[in-house]
Amino acid sequence: LGKESEMIKSILVATDGSDHAKKALTLASDMAAKYGARLVLVHILLVNARSETLRSLATRSGLPKRLRELLGTYEADFQMEVAAAGGAIGFITVPPPRDLVAAIGQQVMERAEKIAAKAGVKKISSVTVEGDPAEVILELAAKHKADMIVMGSRGLSDFKGLLLGSISHKVSAQAECTCITVK
Ligand code: ATP
Ligand code: MG
Repeated sequence: LGKESEMIKSILVATDGSDHAKKALTLASDMAAKYGARLVLVHILLVNARSETLRSLATRSGLPKRLRELLGTYEADFQMEVAAAGGAIGFITVPPPRDLVAAIGQQVMERAEKIAAKAGVKKISSVTVEGDPAEVILELAAKHKADMIVMGSRGLSDFKGLLLGSISHKVSAQAECTCITVK
């Protein structure tokens, strides 16, 4: 690669652990390896995720026993408390325990780091934080001077019909650098 390769020094890839994000990660890793660029992996803790989503993302064997149990019980426990207090449990999303979300976030990141390393990326930074996903991605892209942001076009919600999820929509609209939404 000649001079053009110097144009891409830093690539930010955002992963929520979804299959879409994995596709984005694969592309971003491949590009980072080819350009010799730094890959900044970003995960925003899934504090609003549903229990099914967390269960599908977790590697149970890698969780401490307490969190493994919590993963199976927190939702029903919460609903029982609400019901006991006379509340309706209809459509409320039960907020997952923060330490559980953090542990699953760590697993998502470790998997991502492995994929990037396997693709030959030499410089990898991982950032896992809590916050508004789109805001965090935009802030970190500026902070790390990303030349490119790579995301999945959809993520964990993935209900059919929408072409673009709300996070990828907001980031691609507001990003100051090139933003790739992977299909
Ligand atoms: P929505 O969340 O709007 O209902 P969705 O989940 O299908 O729909 P997005 O959340 O916009 O779509 O996901 C698109 C991409 O945004 C993902 O593939 C991923 O790259 C990135 N992303 C979404 N949420 C996060 C997160 N919590 N941490 C890191 N990246 C995320
Ligand atoms: Mg989403």
